[in-house]
Amino acid sequence: MKLGIVGLPNVGKSTLFNAITNNKADAQNYPFCTIDPNVGAVNVPDERLDVLSKLNNSKKIVPAVIEFYDIAGLVRGASKGEGLGNKFLSHIRSVDAIVHVLRAFDDENIVHVDGSVDPVRDIETIDTELLLADMQMIENILPKFEKQARADKSLKSELEVLEKVNECLNNTKPVRSLGLNEDEKKVLAGYQFLTAKPLIYVANVSYDDLVSGDNKYVDAIREYASNTGEEVLTVSVKIEEELSELSNDEKKEFLSEMGLKESGLDKLVKASYKTLGLMSFLTTGEQETRAWTIKQNTRAQDAAGKIHSDIARGFIRAEIVNYDTLVELGGSLVKAREEGKVRLEGKDYIMQEGDVVLFRFNV
Ligand code: GDP
Repeated sequence: MKLGIVGLPNVGKSTLFNAITNNKADAQNYPFCTIDPNVGAVNVPDERLDVLSKLNNSKKIVPAVIEFYDIAGLVRGASKGEGLGNKFLSHIRSVDAIVHVLRAFDDENIVHVDGSVDPVRDIETIDTELLLADMQMIENILPKFEKQARADKSLKSELEVLEKVNECLNNTKPVRSLGLNEDEKKVLAGYQFLTAKPLIYVANVSYDDLVSGDNKYVDAIREYASNTGEEVLTVSVKIEEELSELSNDEKKEFLSEMGLKESGLDKLVKASYKTLGLMSFLTTGEQETRAWTIKQNTRAQDAAGKIHSDIARGFIRAEIVNYDTLVELGGSLVKAREEGKVRLEGKDYIMQEGDVVLFRFNV
């Protein structure tokens, strides 16, 4: 799963991205991070992994990860090709969701490209570019598609979705505001409309405002987002950068001194998981304890395919114990099986949060 970090210049994107790459997930497990400098992967925080790995003496822990792409360079006029605009817009097409970093701090020494701090104006600036890019796309696609659909009646439902999108964009509304159903989303998946992607706002606030709560900029962002339903997170990217240089224990101490429960990055990762409709299932044993990312409502056979396509192909059944039950039994799947606490599920079983799984399959 990939998230793209966007925002106007000087709002704090690079600082946030530095924090992400300092925090990077174990390079052994995710070698791509060291290859592409614009990609950083962070672990999805999950204390269940620590518990299970201790109980099973696992040699290693492999958490789920989320990838962040640094998509710097989006400016006013990008959809017309300003500032390498089209190149950046095409990068946004490849991500699953967008993280829009907004300046919500005062500092006379840091110039804002539009001369003053006004995050709602900044939201509108970026949204306009994404909207214009989508409008250009639908203008290109629709006339050709209408022609095809006249000749081929099987394209009727796809045409209807595209017409809906066209009307929405002409009313200057983002495609995500249409609330499309799963079938309609599938039709659109191949097109990658920018305004169809889920969006999270990160309000970059000063240290003081992070500790004390909101400021007037955050209030304005929240009010704006309450109409559109997007999530707003307050983060101090400078603090994230500092935190990312500390050990886990130092990090905990630093956060508790500030009276904070979790880092901004952890908040962001959790919000991303929620926004993307993701969940994890777990596997555990002596070799490793691991979290695997799946979409909510994934079938057991498809979940098995996350581990290896051979396991999905030769799928016999899934042996599943709920995490809490497994911990009560001491963490061992073998013991849980002996005590009759393991459920046997078939390939169409819908995976649930907290499932600890052993897949049985034919080689
Ligand atoms: P980008 O252009 O969006 O990537 O922004 P940068 O991450 O490079 O940040 C621009 C400048 O703003 C840098 O000098 C940062 O140190 C500074 N900056 C970022 N966040 C804050 C903040 O919360 N408060 C203050 N005072 N400066 C910040």
